[in-house]
Amino acid sequence: SDVAMYLAKEGRTGVELYLADKDRNSPERLNLLGDLRRAIDRSELRLYYQPKLDLAVGEVRGVEALLRWRHPTRGMVGPDEFIPLAEQSYLMRQLTEYVIDAALEQAAHWWHTGVHEQISVNVSARDLLDSALPERLEAGLARYRLPPKAIQLEVTERILMTDQAYTADAVRALASLGVQLALDDFGTGYSSLVRLQRLPVSEVKIDASFVGRICESRDDERIVRSIVDLVRSLGLRSVAEGVESAEVAKRLAEMGCDLGQGWWLAEPMSAVDATEWLRKHRD
Ligand code: C2E
Ligand code: CA
Ligand code: CA
Ligand code: CA
Repeated sequence: SDVAMYLAKEGRTGVELYLADKDRNSPERLNLLGDLRRAIDRSELRLYYQPKLDLAVGEVRGVEALLRWRHPTRGMVGPDEFIPLAEQSYLMRQLTEYVIDAALEQAAHWWHTGVHEQISVNVSARDLLDSALPERLEAGLARYRLPPKAIQLEVTERILMTDQAYTADAVRALASLGVQLALDDFGTGYSSLVRLQRLPVSEVKIDASFVGRICESRDDERIVRSIVDLVRSLGLRSVAEGVESAEVAKRLAEMGCDLGQGWWLAEPMSAVDATEWLRKHRD
């Protein structure tokens, strides 16, 4: 099947991973995976929300949902620690279902109380192989009486670029629903201009590793500038990730980068704090 072919190609079958990485069966990892399985049921997982702002006028243009895990003994565990682990197991599907349902519920809460902000949800490569994903989204949007633009999906450059065949169906189904896609972590993969043009994405997120040093490094400055120009020439929206200072925000605005996201603009916040932040920011 396509799935098996993809997994084999990516070296993602259980056996290959097992052999490739001996740490995979370390008690530490197995414990965390077991804990994660229970975390879903015990609602230890929460979405945090980080605003994206228009760099020219300072207005909010949506929020990104970022998963947080409040582990009973380890404290806060970041997604970089458990998403890669979940991605190699059957848990990822459950995790994404949780994230999508939670994001839709939050979107409904905001949308029906006058806060019309799009929520972006991160999805993994495997999620795009799940043919139930578009139907799930469609049903969720209908259940909460939400327009398709209430949700956006962020997919990494690598996923969309490496194998168009297996993503084509999922991407087409999502596009026909009217759900927008953002290309995440741009600059870290191997895109070609032609391919970027063919993908039905509306937004390109420039990876924080380039954005962070644009005021110190001429090379990084040139890279970000050329990505911003490229994105604009394709009629898409550019988003700079990792905006950590006023100087960087200013330089990005001068380049014509549309949106910014980062600690200096707004940190990821709990649903309660984000609601308050969004309300305040509107007045
Ligand atoms: P990402 O999609 O690239 O998300 C942006 C990351 O940058 C987030 O890390 C965010 O907290 C962090 N960040 C925000 N502002 C700044 C800043 O000014 N400087 C820097 N250096 N970083 C900043 P986080 O929340 O730890 O998430 C890490 C990664 O985990 C995400 O990277 C994403 O790939 C993945 N992830 C998070 N939530 C989910 C989820 O619900 N599903 C999936 N599949 N992946 C997720
Ligand atoms: Ca993202
Ligand atoms: Ca990113
Ligand atoms: Ca990243």
